[in-house]
Amino acid sequence: MKKILVLEDESGIRSFIAINLRRAGYEVIEAESGEEALQMLDQNRDTRLALLDVMLPGIDGFEVCRRIRATGSNIGIIMLTARSQEMDKVTGLMTGADDYVTKPFSPAELTARVDALMRRSGGDAPAEDASELVQGPFTLNTRSHTLSKNGQPVKLTQVEYAIMKLFMENPDKPLTREEILDMVWGQDYFGEVKIVDVNIRRLRLKIEDDTAAPTYITTVWGLGYRWQA
Ligand code: CA
Repeated sequence: MKKILVLEDESGIRSFIAINLRRAGYEVIEAESGEEALQMLDQNRDTRLALLDVMLPGIDGFEVCRRIRATGSNIGIIMLTARSQEMDKVTGLMTGADDYVTKPFSPAELTARVDALMRRSGGDAPAEDASELVQGPFTLNTRSHTLSKNGQPVKLTQVEYAIMKLFMENPDKPLTREEILDMVWGQDYFGEVKIVDVNIRRLRLKIEDDTAAPTYITTVWGLGYRWQA
C-alpha cells in the first residue's frame, strides 16, 4: 500500500487528515513532532510522501523538509501552511517541498493534491524504456529519473525532474508558465502559477553555471521559460 507520513502537532487536525487519507486508500503513519517524523521516515523507508505542517514546537516543518532532502530522499513532500503565512509557500518550496496546501483545506482538495503528487512520483506509472536525453553537459535518465551535469549527479526533487524532462523534450521552445504548470503539476492542479517560478529558481541554483546569469533556462519576458543546452 502507498504509505504517507502525516506530521502535525494538533491531534484533531492530524486525525482528520489521517482518516481522510485512509479512506482514499492510503496507509498513514502519524508523527506529532519533527524529530519523531524524521525517526519514523528512517524506520519506514517505503514511505512515498510526507505531509509536513509548518508550525510546530521544536524544529519546524521547513527544517524537517530540509533534513529529509539532506538525506538524499526524493519522496513527495507537501507543506501544510496557514493562510496568513503567504511567504511560507516560497520558503517551503525553496527548502525542497513539492507542493503546499493552505489551511483550512477540504478533504477533497488534500486528497487531490496527494493523488497528483503520487502520480507524478511515477510509482504507478508503467516503466518507461530505458532512455537517456543528452543535451550539452546534461544527461537525463528517464528510467532512473536522474540528471547529471558533466557526469556529476544533480540531486533533483520529483517536480524538478519533471520540469527538466519537459524542457529537454522541448529544447529551444519557449514554454509558457501555464503550459509548464499543466504538464508538470497536471491540469487538475488548483494552485498558482507562481509555483512554477519558485521551482525554476531552485532548479537554476542546481544546474546553472552562474545563477545570476542563467544560460540554460532563460526567461522569455511576458511568456515563460526556454531551455537551451
Ligand atoms: Ca501546527
